[in-house]
Amino acid sequence: MAKKQFKTESKKLLDMMVNSIYTHKEIFLRELISNASDAIDKLYFRSLTDDSVGMKHGDFLIRLSVDKDARTLTISDNGIGMTKDELENNLGTIAHSGSLDFKSAEENQNDKINIIGQFGVGFYSAFMVADNIKVESRAFGSDEAYLWESSGADGYTVKPCEKETAGTTITLHIKDDTEEEKYAEFLETYRLRELVHKYSDYIRYPIKMLVSTRKKKEGTEDEYEDVFEDETLNSMTPIWKRPQSKVKDEEYTEYYKTKFNDYDAPLKVIRQSTEGTATYTALLFIPSHAPYDYYSRDYEKGLQLYSSSVMIMEKCKDLLPDHFSFVKGLVDSADLSLNISREMLQHDRQLKIIAKALEKKIASELSKMLKNERENYEKFFKEFGAQLKWGIYSSFGVNREELQDLLLFHTSAEGEFASLREYVDRAREGQDKIYYAVGETAEKIAMLPQVEAVLSKGYEVLYLTQDIDEFCVQILQNYDNKAFVNVCTDNLDLGDEKEKAELKEANDKSEELFKFMKESLGDKVAKVRYTNTLKNHAVCLSSEGAVSVGMEQILNKMPGTEGQNIKAETVLEINMEHPIKDKLLYLFGNDKEKLADYTKILYAQARLINGLNLDNPAEISDLVCNLMV
Ligand code: ADP
Repeated sequence: MAKKQFKTESKKLLDMMVNSIYTHKEIFLRELISNASDAIDKLYFRSLTDDSVGMKHGDFLIRLSVDKDARTLTISDNGIGMTKDELENNLGTIAHSGSLDFKSAEENQNDKINIIGQFGVGFYSAFMVADNIKVESRAFGSDEAYLWESSGADGYTVKPCEKETAGTTITLHIKDDTEEEKYAEFLETYRLRELVHKYSDYIRYPIKMLVSTRKKKEGTEDEYEDVFEDETLNSMTPIWKRPQSKVKDEEYTEYYKTKFNDYDAPLKVIRQSTEGTATYTALLFIPSHAPYDYYSRDYEKGLQLYSSSVMIMEKCKDLLPDHFSFVKGLVDSADLSLNISREMLQHDRQLKIIAKALEKKIASELSKMLKNERENYEKFFKEFGAQLKWGIYSSFGVNREELQDLLLFHTSAEGEFASLREYVDRAREGQDKIYYAVGETAEKIAMLPQVEAVLSKGYEVLYLTQDIDEFCVQILQNYDNKAFVNVCTDNLDLGDEKEKAELKEANDKSEELFKFMKESLGDKVAKVRYTNTLKNHAVCLSSEGAVSVGMEQILNKMPGTEGQNIKAETVLEINMEHPIKDKLLYLFGNDKEKLADYTKILYAQARLINGLNLDNPAEISDLVCNLMV
């Protein structure tokens, strides 16, 4: 019999499948099982209105069977089946499947992996693991059955065959093993069981397979025999489809642990079912600790995507905004087509609506958690808070409304953390600023002279200890009409008019002194001046301009900034109430050399107070020793 040719497009795709180097060859089973399930759906729906079908829901099943000697894997269903024409049309041309926009596939055809990864390629994916495929099918209501057979891109044949009942049986002749690929794994019970678990667990019809177990022979003491028994490989009801009230917390926890490979229970389980503009069920988890690669480039965000209980994507990135990339879980929506490609998904309206709704839900759950489960929230925030702050920074504040009330910062007030709302609610009468300071730890920041000064006036100070913190508040600029100010760099305006005038006068008077001191420090500082905000300390460092001393440190640590040497405009501030002031003035008139040394020491002290290293510790140590002897 002459072979019929596949339609051109199909031929190209087939060719790709046959020679596939795609690493997820295993998905072929998912594809064939979901086709079988669809075919059963069709007959089942028909049975609801057509008595001649004579079958109940419980009569339908999908069966896998293996013949290791013949190297065949068979997938059969008792669904609607296909007529001769349907066999030709459905399996002879890919365009007919309607779910594959082949144009875009052609554009990418050099990139085989990409295409196969992008499309649920349906029936054709079986050619990744099989070198010959037989499809025996009998359409419901017909008394004829046909066998469609193909060994790949060179064409297919269709001829009559015998088949007792309606449905389809697909027999794959599994390819020979090669050095790189062990196709024989698809003939192993454990592997098939595993694949059904992974991809098709929740198919609503039983997927059965005869499985052999060694059992004691009846009536004997120690004789064993292989007994074949039917095993149902899938659990059939997804946990997220069961009524919420019927699922115990432990069940969610167990599900999370096994599906998302975490040894700890999640901090929060979020379940959402909606109908309306988008119909979907979501089961989301907030992990209790960040995965080891979370803050690295290797981490991939995403939710599993199911279409009517069949998994269509392991990690759908588009369902989660970056700032909630820590969320794990899945979305099941009947509105999405099973074979939708990733590219198409990006433009899918439905998916966008779902993503927006999920984002809102996650934000509101976090906000509830902050309100009602403070301890848990702080635990969460220690793990993932930086990501929320990053979300504000990287979006240039676009996400601020959603995220700003979820932020926590270390604080001088009671408790480890404060939210911005808490800060503002307990701000002093007439306080129009949110004070913050930057440093390595809350303890170190609390000791900064400028911080002490602000605290002594009764204000709360936020302690920014994470690298991202200062960038985040700089983007926010203000919260509830109160501007963020860095107590070490910004003009705090704490003193009254008289004090301000005194400070200006003193600074003007000492202009020459400061010029000399600045010169003796070279380009280490941009300026030297008096301050009246320090309580006890003689000196401190502050800065002018957009880059603070803390940011200078972080920016220069970041990859890609080597050699750029980003510099803060550092200012060495001298406490004008401190006796050191008179000493400096005296030296300026009498001993410039000593003044230069003193200046170096003062600068070193200021660095140490700010938690910074010295670049010339030996020199400073010698200078101090000289003073001592
Ligand atoms: P898709 O499932 O995306 O439509 P496939 O290439 O997997 O694409 O299948 C093409 C068509 O072949 C299906 O739409 C369906 O009509 C038919 N088909 C495939 N498998 C079966 C089956 N087991 N029983 C009945 N029809 C089937």
